[in-house]
Amino acid sequence: MAEIDTDAKQCDIVIIGGGPAGLAAGLYAARARRSTLLIERKVTGGQIALTAAVENYPGIDSINGFDLADAMHKQASKYGMETAAGDVSAIEQAADGTHLVQSNEGAYAARAVILTGGADYDKLGVPGEERLTGFGVSYCATCDAAFYKDQTVAVIGGGDAAMDEGLFVARYAKKVLVVHRRDELRASAILQERAFAEPKMEFVWNTVVEEIVGDKTVTGIRTKNLVTGEQGSLDVTGVFIFIGMTPNTSYLREKLRMDGGGHVLVNEWMETDVPGLFAAGDIRANSARQVVTAAGDGVTASIRADHYITDAFGTKPTIAAAAAVSA
Ligand SMILES: Cc1cc2nc3c(=O)[nH]c(=O)nc-3n(C[C@H](O)[C@H](O)[C@H](O)COP(=O)(O)OP(=O)(O)OC[C@H]3O[C@@H](n4cnc5c(N)ncnc54)[C@H](O)[C@@H]3O)c2cc1C
Repeated sequence: MAEIDTDAKQCDIVIIGGGPAGLAAGLYAARARRSTLLIERKVTGGQIALTAAVENYPGIDSINGFDLADAMHKQASKYGMETAAGDVSAIEQAADGTHLVQSNEGAYAARAVILTGGADYDKLGVPGEERLTGFGVSYCATCDAAFYKDQTVAVIGGGDAAMDEGLFVARYAKKVLVVHRRDELRASAILQERAFAEPKMEFVWNTVVEEIVGDKTVTGIRTKNLVTGEQGSLDVTGVFIFIGMTPNTSYLREKLRMDGGGHVLVNEWMETDVPGLFAAGDIRANSARQVVTAAGDGVTASIRADHYITDAFGTKPTIAAAAAVSA
């Protein structure tokens, strides 16, 4: 059992990760007048800060992802949410139920912790990928397929996600070239059947991507056949990469119940199996991996965390959040 670090900053609720789930959780926690601290290791916004246009957030026709995240951050801060820079590497529960959160920038003690560290898409690691992300390179068909109406695009991968998302892209695109490093798919039989039955989908077997090319936007990919060694190129205006996702849970292993992929298992209130620890957004198992669902998860976790603190510690909300708003 951890000792309480007397120098640790004390808060009602600590939120780890400043993507849509964390920012929505912070808004609700601060408005519930809980002292709320959000810790982010990079810049707030998470994955959504990477995308040029979000067109599926209900009520907003189209918005730059960074602007949406910035608006969420400002709104939560207006109600008193504080933000600290830091990469969280450990959480320990003390004898009194308080959670001690350790980051490379400091230590914090919280009555409840909401884990919103999201997930990182596995990258190909080829030239052009990072530079053209958001400009033809995508990791989310549900988000971006509509931008590729009547165009030819590539889908990279051979698992369930690649087929599922590839079929979604085919609703818009003229042609979908599935580029896969093996000579057969790993996807489930039903998804394979659907993919093979879709006339817009063509398969490029035993092939890897060596480079994504384009000046301001994607114009093609350079490929290599792993059997013949032959190099080639494909003219595409979009590249959808689905080769896996890694949730940011490495520091939580052996502390929480997770699925085989390392996503945190929660109930419908976003509660983990550890009292006072909640998980919301892409970090949790069975997330729909959208901004609106991540935000919804964050809100659910935050409301439950507020109730949990009242039940477990008998404390009412303590901070004068209204002062921050009226200031
Ligand atoms: C290019 C792209 C385009 C997208 N477009 C759309 C779209 O148009 N519409 C849509 O609905 N969805 C879209 N998505 C998906 C959407 O962005 C995600 O579903 C959503 O951001 C998940 O939110 P989250 O808060 O759960 O996690 P994330 O957005 O992943 O945020 C997690 C945050 O936690 C931080 N973090 C992680 N670990 C730690 C730690 N140990 N300590 C401190 N901080 C930590 C990370 O730095 C990150 O900022 C897109 C995704 C990508 C990659």
